[in-house]
Amino acid sequence: MPFVESGDVGTTRRRPLSPRRRLQVWEKTGGVCVLCARRIDGVRERWIVEHIRALELGGADDLSNLGPAHEACALAKTKEDHRRAAQAKRQKVRHIGADAPKRPLPFGKASRWKRTLSGRSCRASEGHGSRNAARGDGWRR
Ligand SMILES: [Zn+2]
Repeated sequence: MPFVESGDVGTTRRRPLSPRRRLQVWEKTGGVCVLCARRIDGVRERWIVEHIRALELGGADDLSNLGPAHEACALAKTKEDHRRAAQAKRQKVRHIGADAPKRPLPFGKASRWKRTLSGRSCRASEGHGSRNAARGDGWRR
């Protein structure tokens, strides 16, 4: 399990949209969907303000990054953005080395081996002082 919260990969805060801002977004493309490039029928079709580069992928929450989009187009894009954001998060966790180590430290808590007080090594599952613990298991330094 990674030890990093997954919400912290450069996400931008989302501001609420005023009707004025929604109109600005509409006017920016003249009512053309930024995803499929077809005209949106503002009366009969539902449309939303789309973040061209998703907030969760580091896009800005301002007019330069906004455009009108069919609701159906936006749903498909959001799904893809979530997939890419999840991938970016996994990559970051690996990059900073925050994921669980693949090899446990020798004789660490996650190791299958432990060292007894007398200096012998044995399987972690075995009790203290079992004499034959390190025999026949193939493990030698
Ligand atoms: Zn569209």
